[in-house]
Amino acid sequence: MRKNSKKLYEKAKNLMPGGVNSPVRAFSPFPFFTLKAEGSKLYDVDNNYYIDYCLAYGPLILGHANQRVMESIQNQLSKGVIYGTPTELEITIAETISRLYKSMDKLRLVNSGTEATMHAIRVARGFTKRDKIIKFEGCYHGAHDYVLVKAGSGATTFGAPNSLGIPADTTKNTIVLPYNDIESLSGEINKNKGKIAAVIIEPVIGNAGLILPESGYLQEVRKITEEDGILLIFDEVITGFRLGLGGAQKTFGISPDLTTLGKIMGGGLPLACYGGRKEIMDNISPLGKIYQASTLSGNPISVTAGLTTIKILIQGGDSLYKRLREQCLKIVKGLKNLIEDKKISAQVNSIASMYQIFMTDKIVDNYESAQLCDRDKFGAYQLELLNNNIFIPPSQFETCFLSIAHSDDDIQSTIEAMDVALNKIS
Ligand code: PLP
Repeated sequence: MRKNSKKLYEKAKNLMPGGVNSPVRAFSPFPFFTLKAEGSKLYDVDNNYYIDYCLAYGPLILGHANQRVMESIQNQLSKGVIYGTPTELEITIAETISRLYKSMDKLRLVNSGTEATMHAIRVARGFTKRDKIIKFEGCYHGAHDYVLVKAGSGATTFGAPNSLGIPADTTKNTIVLPYNDIESLSGEINKNKGKIAAVIIEPVIGNAGLILPESGYLQEVRKITEEDGILLIFDEVITGFRLGLGGAQKTFGISPDLTTLGKIMGGGLPLACYGGRKEIMDNISPLGKIYQASTLSGNPISVTAGLTTIKILIQGGDSLYKRLREQCLKIVKGLKNLIEDKKISAQVNSIASMYQIFMTDKIVDNYESAQLCDRDKFGAYQLELLNNNIFIPPSQFETCFLSIAHSDDDIQSTIEAMDVALNKIS
């Protein structure tokens, strides 16, 4: 069924570690190789199609190859791809983001979510003149040294939540605490009064499966960080433009000091940003002594793709996000009914157009409970879905996404495939 993919995989694994350029793309027995994609579907080199709920791990809220986004990129291509000088496009995207994210007076464009969080942390340390940071178990903030401690996503999937190659000296200032546990946070802040530069958090965790904040948790995190002059960094690389136009901060009514955005804001091209209050951001070079730079940042192709995507989302407004939520709820409802009918030990977490099934009978509200899931069962479920033309992220520690391109027929076929896949593991 996937013999061309298998052949390519045999070749690829001699050239790239695991045959892939990002570990999350690897799964057993081998990943399928994609030829093209359109709308809700991926097409592989063996002429199979898959209804896609991975959506490149989140960016493609408009589905694959959205026509308006593709046309805008083609139009920009004829004008050149990088200038090394500022462009008006950068102003337009910064203005647009700043209008939607009131906490971001100023921002810097970078190329990836990893860069965004790395620099946001540096800025927090430079601004507060403090070294320590707090992160939470199972949150993933990219693949840089400060935050690869009990990290979710591929780091957990492949058994390296604390990556080798990072000197203990580098992470000695990274304190890791359980998510959804306000006592441990306030205890740690009290123990380190005046020493913590930043608390960085995925307001909704999308990298340990999908884990939601308990009611009042984020508000309390905001309150106790503020009391000790700690900068709160909302890592909205996933939740930005996904929970709604204004991300998690709008949804939960919280104003972080710094925010990182990525994925959707680049429309599928490399683009991310970090930003916050003017008084903080004005300490970045060339105005201040916190250095951060990049050759390709704000390149007009990525910015064009991002801007077009954001414009479409703004035009779609509440009704676009309502439809996304409704489509997601149909899947979640279908999945929950199947789980109940078949008496399977599993549960489903969801918010907006994100959901995940967890192979456990316990509530999943932090990293520790996510770890209790039956990962072999999840693997069997994912593979059987694949055999029935459905692609979900191939790990218990990721999240499924929907796009505006997912039709009612797609959803119906998906629930039918889930029925078959769940039979396999019940
Ligand atoms: N932050 C979060 C919440 C993420 O989910 C990711 C990637 O999945 C990152 C940061 C890193 O982004 P990138 O892969 O673009 O470097």
